[in-house]
Amino acid sequence: MSEHQSDCIFCAIVAGDSPAEIVDSDEHTITLMDINPATKGHALVVPRRHTEDLLTIGAEELVHAALAAQRVARRMEATLDPDGFNLLNATRAAAWQTVFHFHIHVIPRYEDDPLQLPWIPRGADMDEISAIAATIREGQ
Ligand code: AMP
Ligand code: ZN
Repeated sequence: MSEHQSDCIFCAIVAGDSPAEIVDSDEHTITLMDINPATKGHALVVPRRHTEDLLTIGAEELVHAALAAQRVARRMEATLDPDGFNLLNATRAAAWQTVFHFHIHVIPRYEDDPLQLPWIPRGADMDEISAIAATIREGQ
């Protein structure tokens, strides 16, 4: 199932050539602990098959990654007593991607954790929002 890309750290982990704390796996995915955790329990769902990001991943792989994220979140809910969860995907460097093998961050959240919303909500002109919405719809 895996299509190993030689310079990819997550492919090396999938292949068993690099160490990782794996907490869940199935035919399509592995989930490992992030070595730089944002919170206690921060994990990464990684498809076994190498694909770069949200724009290139196949539908079946994406579905299995989403299901694995839910499965792991439920297991964390039962074991770590978190107060909530964030799921995060970074696609491309401009969006903070640093490992170019698709993954979903599963970040358990705690009332007293130090994370903050990474953007400042701002008001916007409703005409501007409508114009952008129309542009996106035209691309369908
Ligand atoms: P991103 O910035 O969304 O591409 O996330 C990549 C994540 O992978 C970062 O949070 C890193 O801490 C994590 N990471 C990088 N190398 C490893 C590794 N060998 N084992 C576990 N996590 C890793
Ligand atoms: Zn890879």
